Amino acid sequence: MTFLPSRLAMNTLAMSTLALGALFPIAASAQASAQASAQAGPTAPVFTPGKLSPTQEVARGVLKELVEINTSVSTGNITNGALAMAKRFRAAGIPDSDIFIGGPRPERHNVVARLRGKNPAGRKPLLLLAHLDVVEALKADWSPDLDPFVFTEKEGYYYARGVADDKAMAAIFVANLLRMKAEGWRPDRDIIVALTSDEESGPFNGVDWLVTNHRDLVDAGLVINEGGGGVLRNGQPLFNTIQLAQKVVANFTLHVTNRGGHSSVPRDDNAITSLADALSKVGRYHFPVRMSDVTRQFFTETAKQETPAMGRAMRALVANPADAAAAAIIAADEKYSSMLRTTCVATMLSGGHATNALPQLAEANINCRMYPTDAPDDVRRALETAIGDTAVKVLVKSQRANSPAAALSAEISQPVAQVTKELFGNIPIIPTMSTGANDSRFFLTLGVPAYGVSGLFSDPSVDARAHGRDERMGIKSFFEGQEFLYRMTKLLTTNPPTIP
Ligand SMILES: [Zn+2]
Repeated sequence: MTFLPSRLAMNTLAMSTLALGALFPIAASAQASAQASAQAGPTAPVFTPGKLSPTQEVARGVLKELVEINTSVSTGNITNGALAMAKRFRAAGIPDSDIFIGGPRPERHNVVARLRGKNPAGRKPLLLLAHLDVVEALKADWSPDLDPFVFTEKEGYYYARGVADDKAMAAIFVANLLRMKAEGWRPDRDIIVALTSDEESGPFNGVDWLVTNHRDLVDAGLVINEGGGGVLRNGQPLFNTIQLAQKVVANFTLHVTNRGGHSSVPRDDNAITSLADALSKVGRYHFPVRMSDVTRQFFTETAKQETPAMGRAMRALVANPADAAAAAIIAADEKYSSMLRTTCVATMLSGGHATNALPQLAEANINCRMYPTDAPDDVRRALETAIGDTAVKVLVKSQRANSPAAALSAEISQPVAQVTKELFGNIPIIPTMSTGANDSRFFLTLGVPAYGVSGLFSDPSVDARAHGRDERMGIKSFFEGQEFLYRMTKLLTTNPPTIP
């Protein structure tokens, strides 16, 4: 049975000139699901506390194994994680010829496994991407009863470094691939699982390395990556998201030199004073509000979920991005403020060479998260203007290439809408721009659509702990995410899509 009813196909076609207009025709997709299935609303719960299914036991075991292997950038070893997952692929019967382990350095290996499809020549593979590396974590910084590298189950949560970012997705991709292999299921195109190094901060980004050195291994028609997820409010699913775009990282150096001298004879011109003045101006400077197709859609949809005052402000800003009062209301909420504009913030500082000398050099690092349409040179000029002091040089220290936003095709929006409805009921699906960065950018730059979708739900008011203390993942959310990605993977690799 063809999943797309003609009416939906026409909707999609008619709106295809708008990058996001075809986005989630929620009402139409709900109708499609109703036609495709007798089920109204969510199916039976996929998770019962204390009673894991065999495939859930596997996912839990993989997650435990992964988080207990320290893969942080300076104290860990990513290869150990890659080898452990390769062992699981091999044990499941995936031939050695379809498992690759490698990387630019011995402790920075990636693992790539492939489940062969029936007709791999017909459609380019589906790539399921997750990173194995994690942000550093010190036991002393965590609650006394938790160790960041010990998998701990407590009060409905799994705790450990990486349970949210990004080992939940890695474990789920592995467990689901093993499940499909055990079922003897043959997708209509290859499914590739790539678990990679140095997404967070290390210098040997695994996706970059694979794309440059082994393009064939990760050559795909569509990529599913971290960056999306669902939002819970009071434990109930509020909406699901697909991440389509991301901001761009650039670092600038504020650089001030001075002839210096003896500190007993100070002058008005002083490198540290100039730098301090400049930093204080940068700290108060706000870049102009920007609006893209993705953020316009985001604020339009999120307005419906928000408090009346916030909803009004979001609608007002979409109607008129110059509405400063509306922007101020939105910017007061840190969940949203960084989505409004390019942001720049001082992150490191150095200066002076002796307690009794006038400083000859003072420097600060300014970390900027640029709106994808802003150019580094424009940002540099804006900083210079805000500082207004020619003694302070603004230098580009590092900049990443802009990556385009992924267009939201029916190929991805339909499976996400269908499985969201099956598992979480009639909730909206909202496109997002990540204010951080992830590895989807490497594929987007190559023109390969890469989406942040996970079906992993969390409550940002209590669960936003990635990179921080006591990182955790709701156990129910983990297994719902597993089922979500399992069903979505099947829909994305079945042609025409059918319900698995
Ligand atoms: Zn991550």
